[in-house]
Amino acid sequence: MSNSALSVISSDPPEKWQEILADLITDPKELTEILQLNSNRGSDSLLAQAGLDRFSLKVPRPFARRMQRGNWDDPLLRQVWPSQLEDEVDLSLSEDPLQESSFNQAQGLLQKYRGRVLLTAAPHCAVNCRYCFRRHFDYAANTPGKQQWQETLGQIGRDSSISEVILSGGDPLAAGDNYLKWLLTQIDTLRQITTIRIHTRLPVVIPQRITSSLCQTLASLNSKLVIVIHCNHGQEIDSSVQLAMQKLRATGATLMNQSVLLKGINNDAAILVSLSHKLFDMNVMPYYLHLPDRVAGTGHFLVDEQEGLDLITEIRALLPGYLVPRLVREDPGSDSKTRLG
Ligand SMILES: *Cc1c(COP(=O)(O)O)cnc(C)c1O
Ligand code: SF4
Repeated sequence: MSNSALSVISSDPPEKWQEILADLITDPKELTEILQLNSNRGSDSLLAQAGLDRFSLKVPRPFARRMQRGNWDDPLLRQVWPSQLEDEVDLSLSEDPLQESSFNQAQGLLQKYRGRVLLTAAPHCAVNCRYCFRRHFDYAANTPGKQQWQETLGQIGRDSSISEVILSGGDPLAAGDNYLKWLLTQIDTLRQITTIRIHTRLPVVIPQRITSSLCQTLASLNSKLVIVIHCNHGQEIDSSVQLAMQKLRATGATLMNQSVLLKGINNDAAILVSLSHKLFDMNVMPYYLHLPDRVAGTGHFLVDEQEGLDLITEIRALLPGYLVPRLVREDPGSDSKTRLG
């Protein structure tokens, strides 16, 4: 990241995360203006129509500030730009490649693996990542109110085989502090639950989200706490993200990162090596590197398995073992994610 970009961030007045969330960039034209992007560029700069109708543009301004001006190939921009390539029909891609709808037993609850359940704790994210495997997920039908949560939590509480509850999304940290405090405390009081895990991209895209009131709630939990952030490229990390991770670490949480391996964004050994170092500098351990799921509208991001394996071999020679993420793929019906290589 350039010094000029850093100085832009540090000279900003402190912002409230709710205001940032209420003021996302949603108009592609505004984004191209902010980034001073020239319109005569190839087809991948043209806008998707169908893709955009079904999954809107959503970019938090603090994230956009880390994008390079005038660069259509910027790796952060490419993650959020609704390119015309999304509209290409590929019949080998599906809206629900992981068959999640069949694992959706109660409102807000997905259980695919033994011992751990996933709760869709918030109906939306702060950013719309174009490669998202849940871009077609029916969040509206999976956003329980308090009473429905109590039923779902009751169901978890009666299943002694479950010891870990994972809050996922949407992005759970897109929900407000009071609601999260309520939900986390309810989960924390379930006797057999020893670990609460939060999967979130907010500390990266809106680091201002990591408020002291949230950190107080997190620090007060009796369960072990694991926070898995989602960062795909070192350029996403700046001093504000480092500060957010420092605050999360101070709650006693174990910090990890998962990335998605994306064509034209991070399918390069030097980029992955640099990302691992930057994460470790913030005490974040690389966890998973996901091969993209075969989701309709995301074909232009797909990296094949052999390329993934070659990249892992390459980075293994350049990093200590503990900084090499586990390359995984998700196979419907499998009892865990599938480890490759
Ligand atoms: C990925 C995932 C988990 C967590 O799996 P880990 O391998 O423990 O990280 C749990 N539930 C669902 C539905 C998942 O997709
Ligand atoms: S933050 Fe995660 S769940 Fe939300 S759009 Fe991005 S990839 Fe999808």
